[in-house]
Amino acid sequence: MRNPNARSERRSGGVTLIHARYTVPVRPQGVVHENYCVAIEGDLILDVLPLADARRRWPDQEIISLPEHVLLPGLVNAHTHTPMTLLRGYADDMELPVWLKEHIWPAERKFVGPEFVADGTRLAVAEMIRSGTTCFNDMYFFPDATIDVCLETGMRASIGITIIEIETAWASDVDSYIEKGLRLQQQWKSQPLVSFTLSPHAPYTVSDETLSRVSHLSAEWGLPVHMHLLETEWEIKQSHQQHDLHPLNRLEQHGLLNSSLQAVHMTQLSSDDIARLAKSGVNVVHCPQSNLKLASGICPLTELWKAGINVALGTDGAAANNDLDLLAEAQTAGLLAKGISGDAKAVNANQVLDMMTINGARALGLGERTGSIEPGKQADLCALDLSAPETQPLHHVVSQLIYAASRRQFTDVWVAGKRLLDGGRLTTIDLDSVIRSARKWQSRLAGLEAETETEVKELAL
Ligand SMILES: [Zn+2]
Repeated sequence: MRNPNARSERRSGGVTLIHARYTVPVRPQGVVHENYCVAIEGDLILDVLPLADARRRWPDQEIISLPEHVLLPGLVNAHTHTPMTLLRGYADDMELPVWLKEHIWPAERKFVGPEFVADGTRLAVAEMIRSGTTCFNDMYFFPDATIDVCLETGMRASIGITIIEIETAWASDVDSYIEKGLRLQQQWKSQPLVSFTLSPHAPYTVSDETLSRVSHLSAEWGLPVHMHLLETEWEIKQSHQQHDLHPLNRLEQHGLLNSSLQAVHMTQLSSDDIARLAKSGVNVVHCPQSNLKLASGICPLTELWKAGINVALGTDGAAANNDLDLLAEAQTAGLLAKGISGDAKAVNANQVLDMMTINGARALGLGERTGSIEPGKQADLCALDLSAPETQPLHHVVSQLIYAASRRQFTDVWVAGKRLLDGGRLTTIDLDSVIRSARKWQSRLAGLEAETETEVKELAL
């Protein structure tokens, strides 16, 4: 739905010009342009040039002015479960097995369906656009509903063909998960906003036979593989008990340790493991806030970087985080890496910025399309207002962004050349309706909690 109050794009001759006080293109790394214009034609970046040159080249063209802002490539959230925004704050401060088995899974069993997924995804997309995110990597059920919301709102997404050996309302078995997912991939393969991954949930929820099928399908269909991996110590113990193998050895046996793999979490790594990942070109998706909140462990970012591994950033689902704020995730990642390495020089602000932009795009197989402001790439951009007292004085733009700014300072977002956030206002999402629907789910979920509590009391009696 389109907000009727949204300001129309000022276009003529098919070109949109955006002038920002600062433009950080991310590539080349470390460059900060002052008083530059980004020229957009259709969904693509046409040029990045000084304001004076843009005025000479397009003398009659109106210019969108962002006089106090930094213009960046749109942020890439490389791991999330968007519909779980409806479970934000539903169950907190408890151990992972209790959290999952007594709260999250019963709620999902009762409520997950197309309506839950569409409402949860819309809430998530509203939050992400308002936080500067222009692309997310999703893993959940009813991906058809997620795709519909992306097309309705203009958001870019990498959609997981989720595979788990547990029956859900979406699919009954592995055959069904794969068949339904690939059918969607065929249906939407020429839609430029949507790409796909094979998403086996985790080593402990898929069999060897399934891993082997995923490996063959990945090679045959050219699809990346998106998977939770080495999230907890328990996962490694379970793998040794059940398969007599470390999870990485299992994946290697099935040919899955390669540059198509997006390995999410990776908190349990030895130096030998890191060398093996570097050799095989595996991408790591670091989700520091989820790992901290669930006390899963800590991904050794500095060592991964030293080994030359591509590290992207993800928020994980809002039930485990509890937000989809990639800028805060980047801030946490930077500080955590310094703290655990005991070296303040372990990471710098430009490296952290890479993680939430170009590294994410590369991990998703979209490095040629998004993740930096370069001619020929998709016009996926976000602008953050630096005039607030929280980000003044402005000695170093990128430092201020990484160490001082907050997501509330994002004012404008474009995806594929379309302005989805205009001066802080969502242009394709009716925010009042999204909030009403979140409250509807709050009531339904509260009813389930009351039912569960009654059942537990009756059992106790
Ligand atoms: Zn996850």
